[in-house]
Amino acid sequence: MKISDLGEFKLIGRFSKRFLNLPGGTLGIGDDCAVIPTAGESFLVAADMLIEDVHFLKNDISPQDLGYKALAVNLSDIAGMGGIPKYAVLSMALPSSTEVEWVDAFFDGFEKLAKEFDVALIGGDTTRSMNSIAINITILGQAKGQPIKLRSEAQPGDVICVTGNLGDSGAGLKAILEKLPIHSDAEYLIEQHHRPKLYVKEAQWLASHAEVHAMMDVSDGIDSDLHRIMERSRCGASIGLEKLPISKQLKNLATRLDWDLLEMAATAGEDYCLLLTVDHNHFEKLRLEYQRKFNTDLYPIGEITSQLDKLEYTLNGQYHSFSKKGFDHFK
Ligand code: ADP
Ligand code: MG
Repeated sequence: MKISDLGEFKLIGRFSKRFLNLPGGTLGIGDDCAVIPTAGESFLVAADMLIEDVHFLKNDISPQDLGYKALAVNLSDIAGMGGIPKYAVLSMALPSSTEVEWVDAFFDGFEKLAKEFDVALIGGDTTRSMNSIAINITILGQAKGQPIKLRSEAQPGDVICVTGNLGDSGAGLKAILEKLPIHSDAEYLIEQHHRPKLYVKEAQWLASHAEVHAMMDVSDGIDSDLHRIMERSRCGASIGLEKLPISKQLKNLATRLDWDLLEMAATAGEDYCLLLTVDHNHFEKLRLEYQRKFNTDLYPIGEITSQLDKLEYTLNGQYHSFSKKGFDHFK
């Protein structure tokens, strides 16, 4: 059997079974971060890797953007728990022919974001690679005196919401791959793909509210990421596609090029906003407070159901399905 027959998540499930026996209170494989409890606070740990020609094309992303994005995707996993990012460990494999100026520019982007979120680079590894660049970051974070939010706490009846537009990053990637002429819409979408907005502060605020039940970041598209919540919380989900927040830039481009806008919003990955479920009795109040505090919306897109592992889409009341699924590395 090949790993492509299994897929990324069954593969992880297969080996993670060997490591279920953890010291008391430690949360291992299966959420955005591992959680290591200590007196009065928890440490959070996550890792995310970017590989040339898999996650990025060297000629299509500036080294500054790559440095920024490599850290951003890791900060997003700390946000997924509502934690505070603190330290980063960076491992790089580079072909010997890499220009020193390219590496300097990579660190310009990395440092800019690290300063913005007060994250310190404290170690790593640097090695030669034969052909392509590989960047791996391990991020360490903290949750001080407040609960963190897991994927496993969704309850039937919860309102499912997201904190930002869906599909922009996937559309930006498509614009790059299809070498679309750069005009303002495509430029905006490519910018979202390279420099995703992060919801670290918003996530910390949301984590301090008991009415927020489950939370994670959107890295593989809501179609895939909702399955992660459904598996961990043993529930189902129903999504009203007409409710998905979509930018006007994506609407313009998708209309002009006849792209399937809803499929893109539901299945394209790397938007890095938050996906959370909220007690329906408290949703409107929380939404108002969130709008006031952050001057942006908490978008309700559906509801958690008790139908185990069933993800159902409707469009204006009619059932809807997609031929494409959320991102999986091996499928
Ligand atoms: P995310 O998209 O939030 O980064 P993933 O979907 O990549 O999370 O991974 C799912 C879970 O599996 C996470 O808890 C992650 O830490 C864990 N995981 C993935 N790959 C490995 C690995 N090679 N070894 C141990 N844990 C892994
Ligand atoms: Mg994540």
